[in-house]
Amino acid sequence: MTTPTVVSVGSASGMPYSVPVRLRHLLLLTQLPFWALLLFAFLNLQSGLESRVQTLARSSDTRSQLEAVNALLTHVVNMETGVRGYVIAGQASFLEPYYRGEAAYPPVLKTLSRDAQLPAQERARLGRIGSVIRQWQTEVAQPEIRARPSQPEVAEALVRSGRGKRLLDAVRADVDALSQNLAAQLSVSDARAQRQLQALRRDLMIAAAVLLALSVATTLGAARMLTHPLSDLGRGARRITDTSGSVTVTERGPREYRDLASTFNRMTERIREARQATDQAVSQLERRNTWLSDLARLSDALQAARTLSEASEILTRALPHLLPHTSGQLLQHNASRNLLLQAAQWGEPLGTPGPDTCWALRRGETQGEAAGQPFMPRCSDQTGPYLCAPLFSHGETLGLLRIRPPAGADLSAQRAALDDVTRQVALALASLRLQDRLLQQSIRDPLTGLFNRRHLEAQLSAGVTAANATDAPLSLIALDIDHFKRLNDTFGHDAGDAALIRVSATLRDLAPTGSTPARPGGEEFTLLLPQTDLRAAQALAEQLRSAVEGLHLTHDGLPLGQVTVSLGVASLTAGVSGEGLVAAADQALYAAKRSGRNRVMAAT
Ligand code: GH3
Ligand code: MG
Ligand code: MG
Repeated sequence: MTTPTVVSVGSASGMPYSVPVRLRHLLLLTQLPFWALLLFAFLNLQSGLESRVQTLARSSDTRSQLEAVNALLTHVVNMETGVRGYVIAGQASFLEPYYRGEAAYPPVLKTLSRDAQLPAQERARLGRIGSVIRQWQTEVAQPEIRARPSQPEVAEALVRSGRGKRLLDAVRADVDALSQNLAAQLSVSDARAQRQLQALRRDLMIAAAVLLALSVATTLGAARMLTHPLSDLGRGARRITDTSGSVTVTERGPREYRDLASTFNRMTERIREARQATDQAVSQLERRNTWLSDLARLSDALQAARTLSEASEILTRALPHLLPHTSGQLLQHNASRNLLLQAAQWGEPLGTPGPDTCWALRRGETQGEAAGQPFMPRCSDQTGPYLCAPLFSHGETLGLLRIRPPAGADLSAQRAALDDVTRQVALALASLRLQDRLLQQSIRDPLTGLFNRRHLEAQLSAGVTAANATDAPLSLIALDIDHFKRLNDTFGHDAGDAALIRVSATLRDLAPTGSTPARPGGEEFTLLLPQTDLRAAQALAEQLRSAVEGLHLTHDGLPLGQVTVSLGVASLTAGVSGEGLVAAADQALYAAKRSGRNRVMAAT
């Protein structure tokens, strides 16, 4: 299994904070400095405005004081003018301004004197002004008014004395000084108000600029905090489609985003697991598919095989491939079904069980510890885990397929594979056996098992062609039992058959590899000898004659007496056909008969 690749989206570096914060709190936090600055700016402007309002109020007070001082002076001038006009004209109506001023100035003076805004020295000055005015009234104005109707000269003398003028000049001087001081104070206040206005304007501009900058900064910061994790998620989602590994996004940003990223990571992990399971299933199916194709190819190859030995060769190559990492063997029953013969083997040798001791053959199903049958006794010759599957087809047991699985293998999978292979092999072997049986029936003589005439003729034709092509020698021995009719007549047909079987066995035993021992009919036999010249064939014929002569034949316990054979030997010569070769051997055989039987004669 390959380790899944992990694709990380987003980075933990450059994170603005590491403690998870809720989105609501984050938005509040980003706005907090903005609000604090706004509050600070507001308070600052508020206090600036307050100072300016105070300054303006002070200016206004000072202006009122100035007006009051001017009004005071006007009242004093009115009083002086009224008294002077009355003294000059003597008419009571001239005193009107005097009385108006006399009534009006005390409240003005009182208000000014009580004004806490005025400095103490100015209030003292006002006190002095008040007492001088009163002094002028009692000492100058009232005596002049009282004297004028009855003693106008006294009144005029008082005027001429200049006392009144001196007193009022002192008042005027004090009022002027007060007025000047107030005007100076007013201009200071106005200048201050002007400066405060400028400072206020400057503070407003600074506050606006800082607020603007802070607003931009916090908006950008918050946007970064909010958009980066979302971009991570977006990129992560796109990555899922083009990577087989796990995609994880960095869990950062506000808590809601982290929860989302964590859920996303869990989801991608599930997707990766599901994808991995699908891949595994697909590759398992592909392996199974390939394996089944190999099994089908084995079946094809076995169908193309003509003999069991060809099939064995194919199985020796195919079985280790189809049952990898195993040791194993294919065992077949011999003809008499009393032995199991090894037809194919791979890996370590496993030994050979007897057909009677094999539980798989007895029960007709797969056996072995690995087959999940703990109660069955194990094969006596096996130590580790093993599996024995009987080859069973068309109601006939053909043999056994036995494997030793590799250590740690999945035994149920091994058993399934073995059963699949066994079915194919059993079918193929059964078909080959049937084919072989039919073939043997078509080319063998049923009594002796030697080849029949048809096969002999086919082999003869092929042998002649081969010999002509390669210039190799080809010989043929014709053999006939002497006086066989007599043996038949004396001991019966069965005894004759027994004699035929014994002679044919002798012929088979002495027949060299590659030769064709045949019984073309009756009590006549033929041995076709490729690659053998006349001399060698003659020697072999003599060996045969002597061997038959030495047989002690019995039937049902009765000795059949000596049996002899006559033999004719011929070799292929240029231009001679197969039939010609047989005819030459037959002629030599007849010659042997004529010469007295129990002898070998060669064709001339
Ligand atoms: P010769 O020495 O001249 O060969 O004499 P012979 O008696 O062997 O020859 P003949 O041709 O006269 O006799 C052949 C006999 O073989 C005749 C036939 O009954 C017998 N025979 C042929 N086929 C069989 C067979 O399959 N079984 C038995 N038991 N006898 C057979
Ligand atoms: Mg005969
Ligand atoms: Mg004969």
